Amino acid sequence: MLSYVYFKDGKFKLQDRSIPVMQAGEALLKVTACSICGTDIRTYRFGSTKIDDGRIIGHEVVGVISELSDGVSADFHVGDHIAVAPAIGCGVCYSCKSGHTNMCDDLKTIGYQYDGGFAEYMLIPAQAFKMGNVYKLPQVEDYTIYTLSEPLACAINAQSYLHIGKEDDVVIFGSGIVGCMHAELALHAGVKNVFIIEPSAERIREAAELLEKVHFINSRETDSVAEIRRMTSGKGADVAIIACSVGQAQTDGMNLLAKRGRISLFGGLTGDSMCYIDSNLIHYREISVYGVHASTPEQNKQAMGMICREEICVEKYISKRYDLNEIEQAFIDINGGKVMKAVIVNR
Ligand SMILES: [Zn+2]
Ligand SMILES: [Zn+2]
Repeated sequence: MLSYVYFKDGKFKLQDRSIPVMQAGEALLKVTACSICGTDIRTYRFGSTKIDDGRIIGHEVVGVISELSDGVSADFHVGDHIAVAPAIGCGVCYSCKSGHTNMCDDLKTIGYQYDGGFAEYMLIPAQAFKMGNVYKLPQVEDYTIYTLSEPLACAINAQSYLHIGKEDDVVIFGSGIVGCMHAELALHAGVKNVFIIEPSAERIREAAELLEKVHFINSRETDSVAEIRRMTSGKGADVAIIACSVGQAQTDGMNLLAKRGRISLFGGLTGDSMCYIDSNLIHYREISVYGVHASTPEQNKQAMGMICREEICVEKYISKRYDLNEIEQAFIDINGGKVMKAVIVNR
């Protein structure tokens, strides 16, 4: 089967591999679609210390169960359309026992420690069934939209810390798909204003077409910190979400917050991207700083529900669908900024 594989020297290769063989408790998934995540692009650019050598990548995956082994719960059947929440907890550590399986001491993730969805078939690990990471999708014509449950779930996780309310001015750094998901969630929560700060005029144009109610600020042309102060009558933003991997955005996000503001450092930084955070801002202005990493199975199911009820329309963010044999081109297109969100499909 065709598979897109990560190697430690930082190279991705399209390879022919044999269809994996199930062990007890596992299932074989015929992959319907798997979308390319921002973290996949980061790995493509900078490599990753977290992904095993020779691993098939891709973690935003949906498919049809094609074979079941003994030991899988009787709730699942061959032919079921399912998605897999990719971050799989051990079930026994302190974080798992308190429900925060994404913070597991021995977290294993699809596309990192398990083979992922950029292939024709993928094994669903027994642990994924055991931990409730496998969930059935509602019947729809096009299942590819549910690949976006995972990025949406990560945004839901971040916003669960931010106590976003109707009077809030929310600022998001980065107009990529995740920045847009954050904006959609904030709008769904009925906030006062949503601003997106983004240095690329091209990307602003693209995102502005999809998000009518958002104010966009071009940080290359405008002093975004001063602009947010001006737009909020001097108060500053109640919430800032850093949906990009840029240290300066974290610094700016701190500086444009209102008193008692909340900030989510959503995008992880790569090795050479530094940021300066003034802890006296946190102290004197009573600012709360939140980290966030991945999402739980529950948040993935919540995201699926929001997509299903059309509370968040995700279809418009899928700029292009590529066949698996075109995946190299898909990475080139996203890396070059030509495409916002690409989904790899097996037709
Ligand atoms: Zn992802
Ligand atoms: Zn655990």
